[in-house]
Amino acid sequence: MPYTPKVGSSISSLDTPSMIVDLDLMESNISKLMSQLLPTGVNIRPHLKTTKSAILAQRLNKAGAKGGCVAKLSEAEVICDLGFTNLLITCEVVGERKVERLVELFKKYRSIRIVVDSEIGASKIDEALEKSGIGEPIMTLIDLDVGLHRTGVQPGEPAQKLASHVDGLKNLNLIGVQGYEGHLQHVHGREERKNSCLESMAILTQTADALRKDGHNIEVVTTGGTGTAEFCVTVPGITEVQPGSFLFMDTDYRNAVGTFYSNSLSILATVISKQGPKAVTIDTGLKSLTTDSGLAECKTLGYTYGVLGDEHGSLMWTDGPDLDVGDRVEMLPSHIDPTINLHDFYYAHRNGLIEEIWPVDARGKVQ
Ligand code: PLP
Ligand code: MN
Repeated sequence: MPYTPKVGSSISSLDTPSMIVDLDLMESNISKLMSQLLPTGVNIRPHLKTTKSAILAQRLNKAGAKGGCVAKLSEAEVICDLGFTNLLITCEVVGERKVERLVELFKKYRSIRIVVDSEIGASKIDEALEKSGIGEPIMTLIDLDVGLHRTGVQPGEPAQKLASHVDGLKNLNLIGVQGYEGHLQHVHGREERKNSCLESMAILTQTADALRKDGHNIEVVTTGGTGTAEFCVTVPGITEVQPGSFLFMDTDYRNAVGTFYSNSLSILATVISKQGPKAVTIDTGLKSLTTDSGLAECKTLGYTYGVLGDEHGSLMWTDGPDLDVGDRVEMLPSHIDPTINLHDFYYAHRNGLIEEIWPVDARGKVQ
């Protein structure tokens, strides 16, 4: 019989490595976010770069969010075709092929929003849309550098100049500003994170005001992630936040911001070899758990993980129950977004019983 995991069966029936989600914990993360942020009236547009899943986008919208963000155009292509079309693409759409693909996407889905941070980038999109004859402008936000120094035009005159340029383009409809303070998400210490966040928010809201004074129609001011959204929503002028990781969390985030949200996703692994009295090898390595933000942790305390290559990892311990060949453990990822991108499916369970299986729809969509 082919291997086909089934809803209703136990997670013990899954082959490994498998990506599993504790539904009780995930749902509690959603309720916590919604009850903290929704009363402020600020729109929640969750970042789907984490989940890459249309089903989870719908679920978050049912819980109170409106729309979603994707990082890349190719994620938008997949998620839109699955019926979830209210998307902001938060990375600049640059390059001839990419702009062609954007035009094709926009032909089908007029609800797509984009960001620009350069005159040349904006003009290329305008020209391509003009040529297409669609005859309707695409909703566009100025991407502002609020301290991350990744993308974004500089605040002040450069931002004002870019906004005037975009305003003059027939096929781009300037609706707002994005300023993502990604460098602050993992700042340890709540007060420190809050204070730095408020500085970035001041840059963002002052720029939005300056653009309004210049006569631009700035309706959307969008920002924030899991580590800062609670502060962003307190700032007058912020209309939207984009948290993503809160749904599942990871150990790096937990170490920085604490345990308000729970680690609800883990990678189920099997002990495949015993390498000493207190050392075993499990079947998760670099191809199932990323290491850019440190090593994954075993959910059961007391076991220390090490990478043994693409397919293998070690678990070692000093005391606590011995592990033996065939035993199973759950590993908590250190960085959730790139780890999810390594897996095909989520197996969502409650108390060990699989309730739902979700594909990672936009897995590998990095263009
Ligand atoms: N917004 C933008 C532009 C991002 O790049 C990210 C993540 O990198 C987020 C929001 C979501 O942040 P987080 O996953 O930390 O909640
Ligand atoms: Mn991330």
